[in-house]
Amino acid sequence: MAGLDEIYRRSIEDPSGFWSEAARAIEWDRFPTTILDDHQPPFFRWFSDGVLNTCHNAVDRHVRAGRGEQAALIHESPVTGTGGQVTYAELQEATSRFAGGLRQLGVAAGDTVIIYMPMVPEAVVAMLACARLGAVHSVVFGGFAPHELALRLDDARPKVVVSASCGVERDRVVSYKLLLDRAIAEAHHTPDYCVILQRPQGEPARLTAPSDLDFEEVASSDPVACVPVLATDPLYVLYTSGTTARPKGVVRDNGGHAVALAWSMANIYGLRPGEVFWTASDIGWVVGHSYVVYGPLLHGCTSVLYEGGAVGTPDAGAYWRVAAKHKVRVLFTTPTALRAIRQEDPRGTHLLRHRLDSLRAVFLAGESLDPDTFRWASDHLRVPVIDHWWQTETGWPVTANCLGVEPLPVKVGSANRPVPGFDVHVLDDRGVPAAAGIDGQVALRLPLPPGTLTTLWHDDGGYQSSYLNANPGYYTTGDRGHLDKDGYLFLLGRLNDVIKVANYRLSPAAIEAAIATHPDVAECAVVGIPDAAKGQVPICFVVLKTGVASDPDAVAIELVALVEDLVGPVASFRDSIVVKRLPRTRSGKILRSTMQGIAAGRALAPPATIDDPAILDEITAALRSHRLGST
Ligand code: AMP
Repeated sequence: MAGLDEIYRRSIEDPSGFWSEAARAIEWDRFPTTILDDHQPPFFRWFSDGVLNTCHNAVDRHVRAGRGEQAALIHESPVTGTGGQVTYAELQEATSRFAGGLRQLGVAAGDTVIIYMPMVPEAVVAMLACARLGAVHSVVFGGFAPHELALRLDDARPKVVVSASCGVERDRVVSYKLLLDRAIAEAHHTPDYCVILQRPQGEPARLTAPSDLDFEEVASSDPVACVPVLATDPLYVLYTSGTTARPKGVVRDNGGHAVALAWSMANIYGLRPGEVFWTASDIGWVVGHSYVVYGPLLHGCTSVLYEGGAVGTPDAGAYWRVAAKHKVRVLFTTPTALRAIRQEDPRGTHLLRHRLDSLRAVFLAGESLDPDTFRWASDHLRVPVIDHWWQTETGWPVTANCLGVEPLPVKVGSANRPVPGFDVHVLDDRGVPAAAGIDGQVALRLPLPPGTLTTLWHDDGGYQSSYLNANPGYYTTGDRGHLDKDGYLFLLGRLNDVIKVANYRLSPAAIEAAIATHPDVAECAVVGIPDAAKGQVPICFVVLKTGVASDPDAVAIELVALVEDLVGPVASFRDSIVVKRLPRTRSGKILRSTMQGIAAGRALAPPATIDDPAILDEITAALRSHRLGST
């Protein structure tokens, strides 16, 4: 068998040959004759004349191949004390019936459907039912507040929204239906129907005829077959945070996505069909799309759908209990989750109570993996602990240790080496590739491989200006880092202001927009600062309107509530510091990275462009007295 270097070289030198072979893992209604369509650079398309259906590949074909009785999904829900499994045959039945119901509501190929649901099997059924019809789903994370959902309603303009009466968190039941009603009231676009899953927890949702329908009724419609679509037709839109308050709609196609994910399951995660994969992420994030839902199912694996936390549901042994119970082969989680477990159980005593002999590897992504957490996990789990790096936009890992091809020697602090298909470069400020060991902007040479974003939803121009224009011929990732002499990537953080809180990507602008709605706030700036548990947390520097007599402490409490209400608890916003002025450049731009440096305790020289360096002393003093006050 060819080694990693040879496979990698082939993927870069002969992408059409490489991906044409990989495409054989998928069942096509028409196998593509064009593999890489490069007629309209910088827009590249994969398998452009291929025809397939993603739901067929994720569900129906496995039933036909004899996997009908195998579990497709295992639902583990410590927050509700329930669980169970859904076989491939049951998933086919449920998906084809729900798709039949959606069709009766007018959903056809190309229409959009928003899914705003907790981690329940019905959410996966809703996603697959859209795929079955060739409709485009957009899953919105349940932790988002109505305003964020309203923004997505207006951009995606769904015919139908699929939601639930409630989500269940460790210590509370959240009424999704009430949040959805508020979002619809705020949005300009009104969906034709809302399909609501009534959960036994909490109060049943009030359904208002004729537009609110019960999930079970829609799900008992006559089944429908898979609708063949072009490989290039969109499968889903997933919104992610950029630097502005408006989320970006990342578009994923059908064909490239299916081929890339099937390839990654075997070659990156080293999984065989029939094995159990557990990705402890929410379906509202890309990791959930790719490795709770589509990747495992496309590969005929069993996927664990987990509705709970790393700690507190009920304890720091939850992950090990679930992994042992279901003989999980590969666990994919975040450094934040491992840090939380380690904090509660530093000696790993919970681990001793469970037999984890099925576990082959733990993969981590979403934020950098600090060496302490890496060592703790490696020492206690005694399996490879693998850092891998990717983004909503790329859809699957860009750098990793490809366990299914050839395991790499470990370099602590690195997210490993480029995965076949990804031509990773570090560019200097002029856009020229930097030498090994030199920091710069991490960029991927075009064309990107299959499975990556094809554009932004109805916004080709935004795709180009956000990712392609800065370095012609490259996709700019927005991350900083360097490649070492052996080709290992070391990441150093973001080039822009995007914040990663407990692995969730947040735009400071969205939090600022929420804070700016407070009547006493004149202006504000949100920056991310390091946090031992969550990687980063947002803090806000606030300038109050002159003449405002309110107590700053009371305002700070109101701001926490505002952010929770308008952005959602996902923001983990707690801290605001009242200052007299914000530091600016002479041209008026707020100096966020300087404030971030001060807040993180880094001694920085004031930038040459600063308008009034004295403001930095004011900020330092305000921060000091704020911290003294809060200890
Ligand atoms: P998201 O699109 O929400 O998955 O966020 C993607 C961003 O998370 C990347 O651009 C990185 O800034 C960060 N990220 C993801 N994985 C890693 C990793 N393994 N190491 C460091 N940063 C990471």
